[in-house]
Amino acid sequence: ACPVPATPEPLSATTPSSPLLEVVGGDLQVPLVNGEARRYVNLDYAASAPSLRAVADHVTEILPYYASIHRGAGYASQVSTRLYEAARGTVARFAGARDDDVVIFTRNTTDSLGVLAGCLPDNGDVVVLDIEHHANLLPWPPGRTRIVPAASTLATTLDRLSAELASKPAALLAVTGASNVTGEQLPLGRLAHLAHRHGARICVDGAQLAPHRRIDMIASGVDYLAFSGHKIYAPWGAGVLIGARDWLDAGDPYLAGGGAARDVGSSSTVWHQAPARHEGGSPNVIGAVALAKACAVISALPEGALESHEMVLRTRLVDGLAGLPGVQVHRIWPDSASAIGIACFTVAGHPPDLVAAYLSAEHGIGLRHGKFCAHPLVDRLGHPSGALRASFGAGSVGSDVERLLAAVEQLVRYGP
Ligand code: PLP
Repeated sequence: ACPVPATPEPLSATTPSSPLLEVVGGDLQVPLVNGEARRYVNLDYAASAPSLRAVADHVTEILPYYASIHRGAGYASQVSTRLYEAARGTVARFAGARDDDVVIFTRNTTDSLGVLAGCLPDNGDVVVLDIEHHANLLPWPPGRTRIVPAASTLATTLDRLSAELASKPAALLAVTGASNVTGEQLPLGRLAHLAHRHGARICVDGAQLAPHRRIDMIASGVDYLAFSGHKIYAPWGAGVLIGARDWLDAGDPYLAGGGAARDVGSSSTVWHQAPARHEGGSPNVIGAVALAKACAVISALPEGALESHEMVLRTRLVDGLAGLPGVQVHRIWPDSASAIGIACFTVAGHPPDLVAAYLSAEHGIGLRHGKFCAHPLVDRLGHPSGALRASFGAGSVGSDVERLLAAVEQLVRYGP
């Protein structure tokens, strides 16, 4: 047990003093190296976000009804089956999916993109930018993946993508909705238009965007969308792939086994169509229902609430960090208009791993250091040994940002 914290929280008149949504662990106390305890400042939402209180409560509520789904006749099996199947609809509405889009539950975004990679039409090329998370760089077929280096502006980067798509037909343009390193958003509507103009489909890696901004697949023209429960405040181990049925029905089952097969004879197997086709084995019912609950809670927020909660925090954080001597805040493009709750920075003369360890041990602040599974991008930013990333969301408050700024200021002025 930790003692009651002695140090008062720094306040700010301009940033929110209460979270937009209650999260589990928002008042967690953690021990510091000096033996005191402080409220844990979680600035690592981009890696895994805490559970929303509403999601945790929902999981507790449905747990008594947890049972095997689809083939169980018992009451709990029926309830679990209904919850699992209803979760697809909730997630589809959250994403603005088309009525005939398929919702496949997976383990996470990496898994979802892997499912789609296994369903690509034969010989179809994939075009990606080099700023992607490895989950959206590595699953695509070797030899058929064309990696376009991002240019120094977003506008020129879009021109490069357009030229690449025009130069040779491609089946798919796979882009992130927002950079997991810098938080910068990509213009999905424009990218979808560009892909379609050249006869390609577009898949959006929504791992970072989905927890922070409304995505409307129909309005933006996105064909496939992948995201993870654990980044959208539902850390029960599910992810999702949403999108056009034809490819998903044509591809080989992602996991061959029970649930994916309709008829198994001694010499032949008839597979289900999607989604069951790609959900072999006992599915993660609780994970899928938790993910859908998070989607429902976020969908119920007033339009723009999440965005404005994050924007004030991000503006204060980025301005505060940039104002400290030796601190550099990184971005990919000077002309990118909007960003989610992520700030990537380095502190001159202080290796990122040591800064992260100092922030944790002396200040009770958790953030990420390293190359964030986006090695080509972090190398391009000029920091091959890594950087620091502070990320936040609906459970964050102004004092989280103030605590980080004060700790980094102490480091640059007086040392660790
Ligand atoms: N894509 C992006 C942009 C991410 O930030 C991440 C995780 O950090 C992933 C994909 C992979 O997500 P997961 O680990 O849930 O599969």
